[in-house]
Amino acid sequence: MYRKELRVTTAREGDIIDLTEEVRKAVRESGIRDGLVHLFVQHSTAALTTIEFEKGVLADMQRALSVLAPDDLPYAHNTRWGDGNGRSHVKAALVGPSLTVPVGNGELLCGTWQQVVLLELDTNAGRTRTVTCTITGE
Ligand code: ZN
Repeated sequence: MYRKELRVTTAREGDIIDLTEEVRKAVRESGIRDGLVHLFVQHSTAALTTIEFEKGVLADMQRALSVLAPDDLPYAHNTRWGDGNGRSHVKAALVGPSLTVPVGNGELLCGTWQQVVLLELDTNAGRTRTVTCTITGE
């Protein structure tokens, strides 16, 4: 088993950061040839998924999340806490905090047009996110 913390710096709400190369690097470092990579983001206003890293679909994803958790809804979280990021928590919970990708022959088994991404969903911009990368196998 190999574990590594990936640090991801984001600038603003809606940022989608391509982590694929960082994850590939961790797989190489682990020496594991066949197994699984598990990624978990330790924050309640960021999320992980895969997507084609292409401007059009990235914009489509941001818009889809805005339809699910619109900016102008009265969020109970904002009323209770006043930090203004109720929509961020909801979007993060819908997309989810974790991702598992198979490793075969020392390579990440992602499709050619399938990148591993972190979604920055917080309204409070500019932060460092921690992603725990755990690689198991042999
Ligand atoms: Zn909050």
